[in-house]
Amino acid sequence: MAKLEYIWLDGYKPTQSLRSKTKIEGDFSGKLEDCPNWSFDGSSTEQAPGGSSDCILKPVFIVPDPQRRDAYLVMCEVLSADGKPHESNGRATIADDDNDFWFGFEQEYFLWDPETNKPLGFPAGGYPGPQGPYYCSVGAKNAFGRDIVEEHLDACLDAGLNVEGINAEVAAGQWEFQIFAKGAKEAGDQIWVARYLLERIGEKYGVSINWHCKPLGALDWNGSGMHANFSNEVLRTTGDEGVYKKILEAFRPVVAEHIAVYGADNDQRLTGKHETASIHDYSYGVSDRGASIRIPLYTVQKGWKGYLEDRRPNSAADPYKVAARIIKTVKSVL
Ligand code: ADP
Ligand code: MN
Ligand code: MN
Ligand code: MN
Repeated sequence: MAKLEYIWLDGYKPTQSLRSKTKIEGDFSGKLEDCPNWSFDGSSTEQAPGGSSDCILKPVFIVPDPQRRDAYLVMCEVLSADGKPHESNGRATIADDDNDFWFGFEQEYFLWDPETNKPLGFPAGGYPGPQGPYYCSVGAKNAFGRDIVEEHLDACLDAGLNVEGINAEVAAGQWEFQIFAKGAKEAGDQIWVARYLLERIGEKYGVSINWHCKPLGALDWNGSGMHANFSNEVLRTTGDEGVYKKILEAFRPVVAEHIAVYGADNDQRLTGKHETASIHDYSYGVSDRGASIRIPLYTVQKGWKGYLEDRRPNSAADPYKVAARIIKTVKSVL
């Protein structure tokens, strides 16, 4: 007997949320190809009208469930009843079948107290001291929610997700994890499964996860991003600054198309302050954390062989759609 947790993204706009349900299989190999398609009621997830509500879950990625007995987490794409990718299915729009593209996402988020409606570490009636001491902090005065963060890290590693690191972030109650994968679809799958695990672990502690990019509004607190570090064979091996410039310039005329999939309310976050570029501008620069796209020093030191960091995607963005758009733009000049 095995419990298969089928996980998918609903059809809510502008931000999709995770949904899941459990399928019991009597005899299960543990392999993706032995996970059958399954259906769900799309009228309850804004994915179908009530009259003909069936949508299809197509399993695309499986890992052992690190916290539940005899169980697996099965990430799924959503198909319409006719078997075609549903319009909410960003994964199906990724043109990277040869896994040429590698992505490293830096997922930031806030641990959120549902009773105070503030981040962990914020007193009910006010605010903690200003930003400064919280980033990479240790100690009960400045670091809030470490039990959850550590449990999440272990769960991700036990599931076999390629987490590369975690850190406490600039605002109180704000944290980050980084996930890297060779292949854009897999990077998206891993981010979504990691988000799922964080949500579920939060339930145990009565803490919710706030993915909004600027949950404290216009106050002097950092927002949350999901920097997208990316490369393909060309970026990893060219050795030619001109090729980098050509790719970077390809992003300039499609700012609006990128911002459209870089997460809701990004105008609140991309203000030009708090290590961001203005949403209205497009810029790039070596080591420049105020640019839209940063050229990491690593890339230059290796003689223009490396990767780029698009700093604009926010914490609530769909990594599938972010990756799909970046790939489209890079491929437009190669
Ligand atoms: P910072 O906070 O300085 O922006 P991080 O260390 O948090 O940087 O994240 C850097 C990310 O870049 C990591 O997720 C890493 O996996 C990713 N990365 C490194 N090399 C490559 C590459 N060649 N292609 C894509 N991503 C890469
Ligand atoms: Mn980082
Ligand atoms: Mn960060
Ligand atoms: Mn970064």
